[in-house]
Amino acid sequence: MAKQTDVIIIGGGVIGSSIAYNLLNDGYTGEVTVFEKDKGYEFASTPRSAGGIRQLFTTAINIQISRYSLSKYKTFEEDMKVDGDKATIDFQDRGYLFLSKDGSFQELKKQHLLQRQYQVPSQIVEKKNLLSIIPELNITDLQGGLYCAEDGYLDPYSVMQGYIRKAKQLGARYHYKEVKTILTGRNGVKGVQTTDNEIHHATVVINCAGPWGPALSGKIGLPLPVVPLKRQIIQFDIADPLEKDLPLTVDPTGVYFRHEGKHVLAGFSEKVEPGINFKWKRSFFIEQLWPILANRVPNFSQAKVKGGWAGIYSHNTIDQNAIIGVHPDMAGYYLANGFSGHGMQQAPAVGKGIAELIITGSYQTLDLTPLRFSRFKENDLIIEEAIV
Ligand SMILES: Cc1cc2nc3c(=O)[nH]c(=O)nc-3n(C[C@H](O)[C@H](O)[C@H](O)COP(=O)(O)OP(=O)(O)OC[C@H]3O[C@@H](n4cnc5c(N)ncnc54)[C@H](O)[C@@H]3O)c2cc1C
Repeated sequence: MAKQTDVIIIGGGVIGSSIAYNLLNDGYTGEVTVFEKDKGYEFASTPRSAGGIRQLFTTAINIQISRYSLSKYKTFEEDMKVDGDKATIDFQDRGYLFLSKDGSFQELKKQHLLQRQYQVPSQIVEKKNLLSIIPELNITDLQGGLYCAEDGYLDPYSVMQGYIRKAKQLGARYHYKEVKTILTGRNGVKGVQTTDNEIHHATVVINCAGPWGPALSGKIGLPLPVVPLKRQIIQFDIADPLEKDLPLTVDPTGVYFRHEGKHVLAGFSEKVEPGINFKWKRSFFIEQLWPILANRVPNFSQAKVKGGWAGIYSHNTIDQNAIIGVHPDMAGYYLANGFSGHGMQQAPAVGKGIAELIITGSYQTLDLTPLRFSRFKENDLIIEEAIV
């Protein structure tokens, strides 16, 4: 017998769970059902993220999304309280810093002007002043940086669990089952079929399946320009501790690093073939990260690798930004995919936006229309320069 619900969310990672929470928190009275195939979230992108939260973007839409999301992360622990239990997310407001050399300082200055238009308190930092942020930094080849003290990093797994707990408290139903396919009819989406052949009907289905989302959409003839790309993170210890806690710092090469407790973690978007692959290698650290890290911060030259992991970016191959909203060719079929490495900092705004779209038919708080699917056909792309 087919089961009936109102909204089906495929994927209970940070995006799906933020949508479930926002729908119910905003007073949606229908039933919200989340399907999640990996109960322990072993392979989801969310717990494998670096957790960087920054407003240092170069497009109006991404700046506004991050600004809204940051405001939500600041009050997250209280807002997501369940039975008096706070949702601790370890948000460290130690700042976010892009370093520049050669001509890229001019670019950072332009980005700074745009960010200021949206009240982001970012600052241009001249070369010598970088040492007040990271006293050990090797600045010889640098021109300066772009810094936002309000930004920082958090624990992605705890954010996701915070949303899940609160969404469940508000009435969301989580089914730990895999969706085999989305069901469609002449008038739009009809529901989903799970791998154990259960049928669940709904007039709203939201694809939040992260790296697995494009394959599901492809099965119903609605391909997404999104591919899975492996991204590695390595955690290491250093012999000489740094004087100050690190902001999330992005070297001009794209290698990034931050503190994780007393350890340091670092990553880099290396060139890889698309595919789902969770193997991480020490050689990635030795060959690609360490030479850059040791040059940038001399304390990193004596690094002891403690561990690492690989996770997957859902990489939008056209303009490296999220795809949000109803699919133009399928009524009731919503997309929240293609976050290309910046989904943690977008989850609160995307959850709110999709909830508003479903409840009221339009965006109320923040207009996410620039991220619509039809932008590709209309050649109205969102070209973001600050991709990490
Ligand atoms: C190494 C790394 C570093 C990152 N660093 C940052 C960062 O610093 N800042 C930032 O903002 N973002 C970062 N990101 C990106 C961020 O983690 C993602 O954009 C975000 O977690 C995406 O969340 P999601 O819910 O869409 O996907 P996921 O967390 O992958 O959740 C999707 C869920 O869908 C489930 N699912 C899939 N298919 C099905 C199905 N058929 N049926 C049922 N369930 C299904 C999966 O099991 C999964 O749990 C990073 C990502 C990686 C990999």
